[in-house]
Amino acid sequence: MATADKVIKPDFGSARKHFIFNDDHERLRESIGAFVERELAPHAEEWEERTFPDWVFHRMGELGFLGLSYPEEYGGQGGDYPCNLVLAEEMTKSNSGGLATGIAVHTDMATPPILAFGTEEQKQEYLVPAIKGEKISALGITEPDAGSDVAGIKTRAVRDSASHEYVINGSKTYITNGSRADFIVLLTETDPDKGYDGFTLFLVPMDSPGVIRERQLEKLGMHASDTALLAFQDVRVGAGSVLGEEGKGFYHIMWELQGERMIGAAGCIAAAQRCFERNLRYALERNAFGRQIGRFQVIRHKFAEMATKLESARQLNYTTAWRFQNGEYPVREISMAKLYASRVAVEVADECIQIHGGAGYMKEYGVERVWRDLRLNRIGAGTDEIMLDVIGRSYGL
Ligand SMILES: Cc1cc2nc3c(=O)[nH]c(=O)nc-3n(C[C@H](O)[C@H](O)[C@H](O)COP(=O)(O)OP(=O)(O)OC[C@H]3O[C@@H](n4cnc5c(N)ncnc54)[C@H](O)[C@@H]3O)c2cc1C
Repeated sequence: MATADKVIKPDFGSARKHFIFNDDHERLRESIGAFVERELAPHAEEWEERTFPDWVFHRMGELGFLGLSYPEEYGGQGGDYPCNLVLAEEMTKSNSGGLATGIAVHTDMATPPILAFGTEEQKQEYLVPAIKGEKISALGITEPDAGSDVAGIKTRAVRDSASHEYVINGSKTYITNGSRADFIVLLTETDPDKGYDGFTLFLVPMDSPGVIRERQLEKLGMHASDTALLAFQDVRVGAGSVLGEEGKGFYHIMWELQGERMIGAAGCIAAAQRCFERNLRYALERNAFGRQIGRFQVIRHKFAEMATKLESARQLNYTTAWRFQNGEYPVREISMAKLYASRVAVEVADECIQIHGGAGYMKEYGVERVWRDLRLNRIGAGTDEIMLDVIGRSYGL
């Protein structure tokens, strides 16, 4: 029989880390979080107006944060994939979704294919300076006439038999870091008759003749990031610019998207969690009808729903990331994690606006920005509908 001192009480305040993280990850979390709060967050408002400056890349390179999971021989920290999840989560402390996105595109979208598929020369020329923050990268998949339908892209790279160079023509849109990038990982079509085997990735320096940065695009949220429309007019690159195998670009980019999706999921869950916590404080401060609004059962239940969904989304993403880190290629679960995290994050931000009432609609409370920034996650890196299609097809449908 239980005696009083043996009664087991629920531990609501437990801060135990998830099993995919060890003490090194927690130390890394503290150090990134402190840097972000001290050096980046104070500029959030200013960078909303005119995008964040390039020195952020240089500074983060100097601190080793741009190469957490890259091998030490290329200037990286030699960590594992969960280190990148930690970075994505801690970057949300900047209160700037646009800043977090610009950095994530560099660390987890444009540069991973260089390590995975690049030659030694390419790693020295692009990956090493990217890890140092000396070269900024972008990833070019989407075009004005093809986004979800990646195989529908029309940017062509044609081999010039006389010079053995490739001549690239086409255009890319919504390219994060596009206005400032030093190089772009570019998906092109090299053989329209070969279906999925007709695409090739290239590493293209952005100062190559014929690369035109047409304009920076205005958007709903993520104002601190730079999002550009680019044109490629007779851009000539040597055979040494082919990234990975010629004709395998479609598969290379599908691999890249898997890592990107879990990083996006981690970032949006963390941003929504911060919004939830800020909201919790508000619900205990704000009074209506003689009581704290958080004490109304309907509001209490909103918090319970949000917390449950956030926890489920986080657990799904962590477990999937753990499988990925341990050599599996769990595309179905990655799609589920990305889909669910993006939806939950937007739902939570929306409820946080609701619970803030009119204040939620005001800029000064910062909740509306979280909602605007998070809304991208249901579109970028594969829309909700595309994630559902990947999941559905994985069952043979
Ligand atoms: C702020 C921002 C930053 C971005 N950064 C980058 C970047 O750095 N690099 C890059 O390459 N791209 C980037 N993108 C592009 C992004 O990945 C695409 O917008 C996204 O993949 C969707 O493509 P789309 O816009 O052409 O929409 P579309 O493909 O035209 O889709 C329109 C609608 O149709 C639906 N739909 C399409 N096909 C199907 C289908 N088979 N079944 C059901 N529904 C379908 C979609 O889900 C969507 O609802 C960025 C976008 C934004 C907004």
